[in-house]
Formats: sequence, C-alpha cells, structure tokens
Amino acid sequence: MSEKAKVYFVNTEQMVSWFGFAPDSLIDRLERLWNHKEMKLNEWIKPGDKVIIKTHFGSSNQTRHLRPMYIRKIVDLVRKAGGIPWVAECVGLGFLGQNPEAFMSTGPGYIYLAAQHGFTLGSMNAPIILLDGVWGTDTFMVPIENGKYLKRIAVAMGLRAADKILIVARFKGHDNAGFGGALKQLGIGCVGKQGKGEAHCGGNENIYIKHPENCTACGKCLEVCPSSCLSLDDGKIVLDSNRCIACMHCWSVCIVDKPKPEQRVFGLKRGLNADEQVERMMDNAAGVVKLLSSERIRYINIAVDITAQCDCLPAAGHPLVPDQGILCSKDPVAIDQACVDLVTMARGLPGSPAETGIHCGSPEKGIHFDPDPSALEPGSEKLGIFSAFVEPELRSKIVEIQLSAAEALGIGSRSYELIDVTEESKDAASGEEVKEVRKNER
Ligand code: SF4
Ligand code: SF4
Repeated sequence: MSEKAKVYFVNTEQMVSWFGFAPDSLIDRLERLWNHKEMKLNEWIKPGDKVIIKTHFGSSNQTRHLRPMYIRKIVDLVRKAGGIPWVAECVGLGFLGQNPEAFMSTGPGYIYLAAQHGFTLGSMNAPIILLDGVWGTDTFMVPIENGKYLKRIAVAMGLRAADKILIVARFKGHDNAGFGGALKQLGIGCVGKQGKGEAHCGGNENIYIKHPENCTACGKCLEVCPSSCLSLDDGKIVLDSNRCIACMHCWSVCIVDKPKPEQRVFGLKRGLNADEQVERMMDNAAGVVKLLSSERIRYINIAVDITAQCDCLPAAGHPLVPDQGILCSKDPVAIDQACVDLVTMARGLPGSPAETGIHCGSPEKGIHFDPDPSALEPGSEKLGIFSAFVEPELRSKIVEIQLSAAEALGIGSRSYELIDVTEESKDAASGEEVKEVRKNER
C-alpha cells in the first residue's frame, strides 16, 4: 500500500495567553508550522530563491478575503529563509466589476482593489504582481495528455519566473465547485483568462453571436478584445471564433447595456453543467502541476472564515463552522480533502447558512436554498449543499467530483494523514517536553 500524503496542521483550540513571553496566536502557530521538523519550509527555501506567494485578494466590497496579516507573516518567513518574496494573483474573467475603479478583471483595477484590502508593497514588504499581465492574457500553453476535456492549458506566464511557489488559499465553500482551496487556486487561480474561460464557459468554440440584431455597433467590445477577433460588418458584430480566447471581455462590456438575458448579443451554444466545469478546472490544475514540479510547490490552506461562498462574491455571509486552523502539505488533493473532512466534522454555527440556508437574488424573486435539518451537526454535509449554481441533483456530489477528478488526473492523493502539531509547537515554544502529536487519517 502506498504511503499516505502528509498534511500538517495547527488548530485554533485553546489559544493560551502567554502575556507576550511565548505568543500563541494563529499567526504564531503558522510560524511554528512553517518551521516544523517534517515540513521544514524554512529549509525548502534556499537563499536567493524567488518565491511566489499565490493568493486571492478578494473582490470589490468583499469582507471575508484572507486577512493580509497571514500573507505578511509568510513574506517575513520567506525573507528570513533568504528568499525573495512576491505576492501574486491572476486577474479575473471578464472586463468589468461593480466598482469601476477597483475591480478584479484587469491588472490596474485588481492592484487598486488589492490595496483597498490591505495588500500593498508597503504593508506586505514585497511587490504585488499579476502573473498573467494587465489583461489576463499573458500565458503560455502547457500540453497535458490525460485531460478529460482539455489538452493544452493556458498557464499564467509569471509562474515561470519563480524558483518556488507557495499556494496560499482561504478554504471556503464555492457556488460552482462545492469548495475552494488549493485545487481551485491551481485550476482557476494559476491560469490566464483563456483557462478560466475554458473552465467556466467551455472555451472559444462555445461562444457565438446569439442575437446580432441587438448589436447597436457601439464598438465597446472591439476596444477590449485582446485577440482582435471582433469586427463590425454593415453595423453588426462579427466574431472570428478561431482567434477568440474566451476571455469574456466582449460579453461583460456588452451586458452593461443589455442586462436582460434575452437581449444579450453574445451567448453560449450550450451551458456547462457544474460537473463539467469542475472537471475542466481540474484539467487546468493538472497543467499547472505539470509545469511546477512537486519540489517547487507547497500548499497552505488557511481554514478561517469558512463561508458558503467564495472570495469573488461580496455577500459572503456568516462562516458555516468555527475557524479550524492552518494546514500545510506537498499534496494539493490531500490538503483539500483534509479541509473538507474538518468542515464536515465540525459543528455548524447557529445563524450561518448551515442553520438559515442561503438566499440568492432579490428578496422577492430570488431562490432560497434550505439546509438539511441536520446541517448543524458534526458529520453532516455543509459545503456542496450551498453551491447555488450547481444543478440540484449534483449539489451533494460536487465536492466528491472535484476531489476524485483531481486524484484521477494524478494531481495528488485523497488518502492522507493529518498530523496536528499544535501541542508539539506550543510545547516547543514554552521550552517544555514535546507531547505526542494527535493524528487523524483517511
Ligand atoms: S458591445 Fe455589444 S452592442 Fe456594442 S458593438 Fe459590441 S456587440 Fe455590438
Ligand atoms: S471575442 Fe473572444 S477574445 Fe474577443 S473579447 Fe470576446 S471572448 Fe475575448
């Protein structure tokens, strides 16, 4: 039997007030996890290594994104090991956002948004960079053989510049994918818009001019198309699909004037079910992992503020369960599986969607998703059931679909050993004899 993947963990239980002598906040525990004798991130980074710390800056007006202090601590630890840290992200799909100045779908907007959320050169003591450029089109193609849908992956160009990559995710639920952690950081967060378009929209072959009669020849989409594959012919829009990269720039600028679905000029030939979207996302992840050998990449999942919805949605609401802690591993599948299991085994928080359900859309016409009556109980499902964009029949399966697709592609293993080093690290900090660590397995 092959060895189980190791996932190291510091929990949030019993924080001790040491009155400053031996600090014991989650940030302090993160440092001890980093230095742990088996994880050894302090030795993994070599002097002079360029280290990309890939995270998510949140979306406009979103309040549950990862707090900057976690990333700043990691920057400090990289510097202490002799590395050169860059705090990095890729831009989002489309071209616009709620806030015309601070939006995540172009480089300048996302850097401005990152600053609003506390991620600046000054606060991080590291440059804030976008791995796929100003428009999210700075990518290169990585071929993969075993992708279920995709054979060439549009990986963010900036990843090539790093010696080491730390994928740092806030673990949470997700509307399309059941949950978002290390795997989603790889499959969406580390690819350019072309890769995001493949996962969300089915790529260039799936985009077409659905209602040419509604084109007013305003020209806005021509201005933002990075591939110059749109033109106006006799006052109506024409698309050259062969050159399109499915960035959705055109759709997002046109939709501003034509918000009703039946008026929209651009459409998809077929809608993608959530299982196909997630499996395409995992194909992307396989391409990123293929580029970055396992020795160059480590994963840190920060399981705090575990909301039902992701960092892209402002209305994240109350966390489903109490904060769990911080996990670290070489294996992105194992670390996400461990987080899923921690959330499942936690007691749901009263007042959270685990008790109240979740409402999408206007108060009058929106849809309400009720939780299972047992969702507050430890052992009950809490993630996929709130994935509002997932077909009802797939909601209870979508977490499983993401994890099993990743494992089938060889990205990692769902079989893991969770090694809780919280007590060990506390004892080491206080100079006491090291106690035995608690271990969970799957
Ligand atoms: S943005 Fe819409 S309306 Fe304007 S030219 Fe493009 S397709 Fe036509
Ligand atoms: S036509 Fe294709 S490449 Fe051009 S803006 Fe639209 S989605 Fe992007």
